[in-house]
Amino acid sequence: MSVTVREEYGGSGLDYQAYAIGMEEVARGDAAVSIVMGVNNLYLGAVQQHGTEQQKQDFLVPYTQGEHIAFYALSEPGNGSDAGAASTTAKLQGDSYQINGTKAWISNSKEASGGIVFATVDKSMKHKGITAFLTPKDVPGLSIAKKESKMGMRATSTCQLVLEDVHVPRSRVLGAAGDGFKIAMQSLDCGRIGIAAQATGIAQAALELAVDYSQKRMAFGKQLARLQLIQQKLADMATRVEISRLLTWRAAWLKDNGLPITKEAAMAKLHASESATFCAHQCIQILGGMGYTTDLPAELYYRNARVTEIYEGTSEIQRIVIANAVLRELGKE
Ligand SMILES: Cc1cc2nc3c(=O)[nH]c(=O)nc-3n(C[C@H](O)[C@H](O)[C@H](O)COP(=O)(O)OP(=O)(O)OC[C@H]3O[C@@H](n4cnc5c(N)ncnc54)[C@H](O)[C@@H]3O)c2cc1C
Repeated sequence: MSVTVREEYGGSGLDYQAYAIGMEEVARGDAAVSIVMGVNNLYLGAVQQHGTEQQKQDFLVPYTQGEHIAFYALSEPGNGSDAGAASTTAKLQGDSYQINGTKAWISNSKEASGGIVFATVDKSMKHKGITAFLTPKDVPGLSIAKKESKMGMRATSTCQLVLEDVHVPRSRVLGAAGDGFKIAMQSLDCGRIGIAAQATGIAQAALELAVDYSQKRMAFGKQLARLQLIQQKLADMATRVEISRLLTWRAAWLKDNGLPITKEAAMAKLHASESATFCAHQCIQILGGMGYTTDLPAELYYRNARVTEIYEGTSEIQRIVIANAVLRELGKE
């Protein structure tokens, strides 16, 4: 639950390459559990990087052992991809901020003990007004509203978080007022390594199931695995899994070496998530009718894979990030 948190704060003190390997393995077993781990790490990464010593004692240490889990509340009903358009407001009153608004799609929020709420201190400043607040869940005025009924990842909660006159002391602002957007973008870069690893785990699980089934199932007097059209699917799946893993590990390695990762993390997330859907789709096809039933997990892999193309930046947003980086690097203007 805290692979990349330093040991002095109760974490494992490992690097992002270790985190990517761990996330992939957990997701290969149960992708929904890897969401719990991934969102917790997103939160912990931001607190470790931007928190004061006191904030680390209060909001990092208790979340490293799995006894408490955290949420990360950026999205709202009216804005997801356009995170800078947040309409949850934070008004400074004396020594605390009064927060009002609704956050949407918040993973872990039902079970979490606290997390980060992003709100704007001045809407006219657009993304420069966004501020990150460390917020326990049991504060007066904070409640869990609608729990989403999702296509997949159903073993994790995804809820709306309603804030009505929630008071957060100034001392619980992460970074400074107005730093929230920068903090969100930095932590999402790292989060995308986690989602890429998660997607690789789902794709690997789909590949393993497809190989196993294709060697047991007979058609036209042969194992499915001996049919070249099935072999083509297995080859394409295996190649995509390897590319996803290598892109993910490259982004993790860059992060571990203090190098920029925005483009590389976006590439890893884009490729791995679309490959997870591809592999789960092919797995269902190789299993035939059995792929379409809940007797085997192929349909679960498909339902779980699909959201990896949506959260922590949709595939469209990853392509925008990658194209902007490529134009900067190679463009003439
Ligand atoms: C299961 C689940 C868990 C989640 N967990 C969390 C969480 O813990 N915390 C959190 O803050 N959020 C969470 N989210 C929210 C998630 O990050 C958003 O759903 C995602 O960012 C997309 O935002 P949106 O749903 O508002 O879609 P929109 O932003 O409305 O996008 C709709 C479509 O338009 C496209 N689009 C948008 N802008 C552009 C553009 N400029 N160019 C081209 N296409 C564009 C998108 O790619 C998409 O295809 C979660 C979502 C889900 C489904």
